[in-house]
Amino acid sequence: GKPRVVVVGGGAGGATAARYIAKDSKGKIDVTLIEPTRMYYTCFFSNLYLGGFKEIDDLGHSYGGLAAGGVNVVHDWATGVDRDAKTVALAGGGSVPYDKLILSPGIDFVDGAVEGWDLSAQNAMPHAYKGGSQTELLKAQLMAMPEGGTFAMVAPPNPYRCPPGPYERVSMVAHYLKVNNPTAKIIVADPKAKFSKQALFQEGWANHYEGMVDWIGEDFGGGNVSVDPNAMTVTIDGEETSVDVCNVIPAMKAGRIAELAGVTDGNWAPVHAADMSSKADGDIYVLGDAASQGDMPKSGFSANSQAKVCANAVRGALTGSKVFPAKFSNTCWSLIDTNDGVKVGATYEATEEKIAKVDGFISATGESADLRRATYEESEGWYAGITADMFG
Ligand code: FAD
Repeated sequence: GKPRVVVVGGGAGGATAARYIAKDSKGKIDVTLIEPTRMYYTCFFSNLYLGGFKEIDDLGHSYGGLAAGGVNVVHDWATGVDRDAKTVALAGGGSVPYDKLILSPGIDFVDGAVEGWDLSAQNAMPHAYKGGSQTELLKAQLMAMPEGGTFAMVAPPNPYRCPPGPYERVSMVAHYLKVNNPTAKIIVADPKAKFSKQALFQEGWANHYEGMVDWIGEDFGGGNVSVDPNAMTVTIDGEETSVDVCNVIPAMKAGRIAELAGVTDGNWAPVHAADMSSKADGDIYVLGDAASQGDMPKSGFSANSQAKVCANAVRGALTGSKVFPAKFSNTCWSLIDTNDGVKVGATYEATEEKIAKVDGFISATGESADLRRATYEESEGWYAGITADMFG
């Protein structure tokens, strides 16, 4: 019969890989995608939803386009991988055989990363670092804040998905509060001494939201933090504060199925840069946030870029089609306030050792309003283009 590819996880990496293999193999490969949710809500642009620039429906993408493109979409959880039998077990029972298995399960949280918080506290203190209901919950809590209230964020340690994500979120929360609750305050407890696009964000916070954002970095005890979800308090370096909203973004690791498949080493799954194949098993590939690959940040753009390299390599391995040298790219845009967009990005190539950065760029402080608006408009085009590339 035809060679079989199974993809676990229909997000940025998995949807792209499934779509490209089905499309480019023109029916020569059987592609099955395993994904529990019927609608994928992007984390990218979810901060713009918090700020009031997007509706939740703008972020949702169905799997109908993939099905129409020839992908067999199975809505279920993968619960295990039998690497000898080459099968993936499903929560609903039964199993799916594969010749090549692609894992793109995104992230899970490291247990005990923030003292006082675990998954059972995610309703009182949402992470909103997976898309959909968590994002909506955080927005509802933001809107329900009392006048002059306090919004706290516990930021994650490196490495984590979307390096500028927490700081774009601070910006969008500040935008919402400036309009709706201008005497409110934001405090950020951060275990890092510095963060992505820091100069750009701090310039923007000073320009647009003067006095509203208090960022407490590692040097000031920002990593020495505990929370109490019942009392709604945050304790930073011994000082307890009552807060109205607490967005806890814990330390991250590869989605659990990568660990169950036995392809992780520590928190992440090491891969070969040339084709994204696991260093533990040549018939398993790991894409996106879950992979330990080298220099690329964990982003939707990166996952999409890695998925295309992987799809090309998997087709080549199964059907003998031409395999092109691996090239990758990424750009992370962030919105600081209305029409004030900034970006950071790079191109990459595969070396023996890792995905290695070739060339990069970053927005500068003090740029003109016109340039910032053009950067924001570029991000709108990017979102439309990349979600079409992922979901058809
Ligand atoms: P995901 O997209 O998370 O997909 C994983 C999928 O796997 C999910 O659909 C999940 O349901 C499924 N899954 C997990 N386990 C199983 C299992 N056992 N069985 C079956 N299915 C499973 N990136 C950008 O490029 N630009 C941005 O502007 C940007 N902004 C962001 C803002 C925020 C607030 C956040 C949180 C992230 C942002 N990102 C951004 C990062 C981006 O969302 C992720 O890097 C990207 O989604 C990673 O893709 P992935 O395929 O690894 O995982």
